[in-house]
Amino acid sequence: MEEKTQGQLLKEQLCWNIPNIAKDNKDEVAKAQEFCEGYKDFLNKGKTERECVEYSVDLLVKAGYKPFDRNKKYKAGDKVYFINREKAVIATTFGQRPLTEGSRLNFAHIDAPRLDLKPNPLYEKSDISYLKTHYYGGIRKYQWTCIPLAIHGVVCKADGTKVKVCIGEEPGDPVFVITDLLPHLAAEQGKRTLNDGIKGEELNIITGCLPFDEKDIKEPVKLMTLKLLNEKYGIVEKDFVRAEIEIVPATKATDVGLDRGFVGAAGQDDRVCGYTALMAEIDTKTPVYTTITALVDKEEIGSVGNTGLNSDFILHYIEFLAQNAGVDYKDVCANALCMSSDVNAAFDPTFPSVHEPMNASYAGKGCVITKYTGSRGKSGSNDASAEVMQKVIAMMDEEKVYWQIGELGAIDVGGGGTVAAYVAHMNIDVVDVGVPILSMHSPFELAAKVDVYNAYRAYLAFFKH
Ligand code: MN
Ligand code: MN
Repeated sequence: MEEKTQGQLLKEQLCWNIPNIAKDNKDEVAKAQEFCEGYKDFLNKGKTERECVEYSVDLLVKAGYKPFDRNKKYKAGDKVYFINREKAVIATTFGQRPLTEGSRLNFAHIDAPRLDLKPNPLYEKSDISYLKTHYYGGIRKYQWTCIPLAIHGVVCKADGTKVKVCIGEEPGDPVFVITDLLPHLAAEQGKRTLNDGIKGEELNIITGCLPFDEKDIKEPVKLMTLKLLNEKYGIVEKDFVRAEIEIVPATKATDVGLDRGFVGAAGQDDRVCGYTALMAEIDTKTPVYTTITALVDKEEIGSVGNTGLNSDFILHYIEFLAQNAGVDYKDVCANALCMSSDVNAAFDPTFPSVHEPMNASYAGKGCVITKYTGSRGKSGSNDASAEVMQKVIAMMDEEKVYWQIGELGAIDVGGGGTVAAYVAHMNIDVVDVGVPILSMHSPFELAAKVDVYNAYRAYLAFFKH
């Protein structure tokens, strides 16, 4: 072997290179493939926040977690969970050290961009019945036409009983669709800007074309749709007002690429962090510090509502833990460390100009630490401190986690936020750690499996230290 030159040696000592995992560590690729089988199940079983909570609680209960009882005394290694209004769930493994010395918080969101039904959605036009929608979160509306859609949600009936609705997922189920123009007649529409290619009020879902067969009855196709819904769920038109019904892609999570290196599915922002955080929580047995893993709702519309992180429900849970341990929750918060686990935009070689390549995250290079999000001059971001960065990087490096850094796009191109700012508001140290995603917020997002696996490893490392 040739001896290294001084320059080569210096370069090794001083420069920083982010490895490509697949080139660096073949073993990791196989482990990631296996890990992502469970991840795809999670995506398929949890297409709404309520479904994610239900499936997560199944997994927690199977792993021995018990409902949190604020009056019970807990010891190191005990595992509990707490559900907030069916749309958020918190899991805890009690640590060996007192809460006031530190705790490990990991917060991810399980809501995702989608179409919601309007409160009064059903109508008939030209002998076709439709449901009107109102989009939730940031979507590119034109991406939602001409793809199979499923209907998920809950309806509360007048008497207070609640029915779960799900059509379009089982083999043999019908699906739903939003139409678009044929190219032959789209000359005028083609002059619209891409953002206006399909407008909000054009996101109408076809639900049927067969009439209720009776002479002189008005809107017979709409009536037929209502009749079928009534037969299946016992609901009437007024019940739509008492419902939360989400329209999501009917496609299943699936491998993408000949090498199966990617998972493709809707809702990976941020169920990818939800699943990896949950698995790390479950696989953590006797941590030094108490863990608080929360899967929360409403991030995509600003963490609003009492199931989102800008509500006090997490703080109240921390207060209950503190009271239970006989300490002040303010000391718990001041000494806590949190991973705000959310995705970042992966560098897309087809659209390189929106990224700054030195500070973008890349598919296949591991989980991504995002020091700050926000837009313009870091507006709306939590800017993690040097001290927090040091602590988190030390944990990652000790456990040989593959990680990279990422800004959400080049300066002034756009921007975005996560739950980190709301965590910081509680006087908790926090940094964003997640997975780079291609086609984020689309009906078919991509995540590299090695990155998914390394997010899980990052959270495991975090809970271990
Ligand atoms: Mn997100
Ligand atoms: Mn998002």
